[in-house]
Amino acid sequence: MDSDVNSTENPVIGEKKQVNSDSQHSSSIQEVVILGATGSIGEHCLAVIRENSEAYQVLGVSGYSNLDRLTEICMEFRPSYVVVANVQDRKSLYQRLQNTYRPEIDCGPSALDGLAALSECHTVVAAIVGAAGLSSTLKAVESGKRVLLANKEALVMSGALLMQAAQQSGAHIVPIDSEHNAIFQCLTSKMQQACVQGNLNFKASDGVSRLILTASGGPFRGFSVEQLKNITPKQALCHPNWSMGPKISVDSATMMNKGLELIEASWLFNVAPNTLEVMIHPQSIVHSMVEYIDGSVIAQMGVADMRIPIAQALSWPQRIPSGAASLDWTALSGLTFEAPDMEAFPCLTLAKQANSMGGTAPTILNAVNEEAVQAFLSEQIPFLSIPQWVSAALDCADIQPIDSLMTVMEADAWARRWAQQRLMQHASALH
Ligand code: NAD
Ligand code: MG
Repeated sequence: MDSDVNSTENPVIGEKKQVNSDSQHSSSIQEVVILGATGSIGEHCLAVIRENSEAYQVLGVSGYSNLDRLTEICMEFRPSYVVVANVQDRKSLYQRLQNTYRPEIDCGPSALDGLAALSECHTVVAAIVGAAGLSSTLKAVESGKRVLLANKEALVMSGALLMQAAQQSGAHIVPIDSEHNAIFQCLTSKMQQACVQGNLNFKASDGVSRLILTASGGPFRGFSVEQLKNITPKQALCHPNWSMGPKISVDSATMMNKGLELIEASWLFNVAPNTLEVMIHPQSIVHSMVEYIDGSVIAQMGVADMRIPIAQALSWPQRIPSGAASLDWTALSGLTFEAPDMEAFPCLTLAKQANSMGGTAPTILNAVNEEAVQAFLSEQIPFLSIPQWVSAALDCADIQPIDSLMTVMEADAWARRWAQQRLMQHASALH
């Protein structure tokens, strides 16, 4: 293996709790803000920080609907800044914490932006789900933070704006979506450096020929269109390998997650769509791969545990323990790979289509998908309506080039109105 590839080192056994930090912050504790701390990614991130408490400290957190869990997080990590959904939650959290400590508690979307831009903060974990995370993610990037990006929807909606903002502010965007983090790990350190700055531009001499995103295939791998007709939310929420929030679990079941990830990869790695390939790998051990022109394929592997990409991104370019188990090779039944079924899972094709249409097409794809997933989860529409809605919306949308956040927000709002109308038509057709 090229000595430049994976140049970071494994933690030395016996030095598990060593302090790592990047050059600017050597020997000081890194202050971390977690946007969406009560979610699946948020919890994994807290676990990594708990494991490395000499090196990282939780400066701020946000939570939206689970005040009980947010209270526990505050009691354990004592963040100085907390953002909640509304004034009532703010009052309630003050009361719950009054005998422990007094953080600054604020509420609403603009408070999230403020949290993302705190001057004391070094790293922001963008782990709010969906479009609700766009503004704060953008704010973190504009403020020059290290941004651990989980909120893929932000990049899908407005990749051009986020990447430009990173170039201008000097922010570092490090992907923690497992596939993108895997690809990142399979690049040389020079490519990684350009990637985090939003400046990656593969040259012929880099020798990269293909980026291969792996996908577990979700809970319905191998199902026919007929079998997908009567899928319930409960079935769709049962992912075979990963434990995740409800929205991404449904996205994994429709394979829209992989579609969103293709778009996410095209921005992060600045590659043409034909350089990206999706491969079904049901065991979720190979998290993605980079193929080089000499035929070498470099893969990142490990157990399916989000603490691994989070720890890698938090400490990059060094390494810290994540708390995840190491891979038991002898327990593996085998590693298999197959092509995705594009007929049963049209979301993948729709995402490719939106990506090549460009401009606000991915924004519309994302917004209609979010609305359709919500309608499916509340049992208002069937599973197969999700791709049908997205396809119909892309067919009639007026796609605009993205020149500002306003253009993105207008496209998002149009798509949500479109979806609401569609839902009303669906409901009235049933009565
Ligand atoms: P989740 O539903 O478990 O958590 C979402 C978080 O966002 C919660 O803290 C919630 O309080 C907050 N939130 C929800 N709506 C909000 C709103 N309107 N305003 C402010 N905050 C709000 O979701 P998750 O599975 O942790 O996923 C988070 C993001 O990470 C998603 O973009 C997802 O695609 C991405 N991601 C998740 C995983 C995973 O393993 N869970 C893996 C890769 C990428
Ligand atoms: Mg992923």
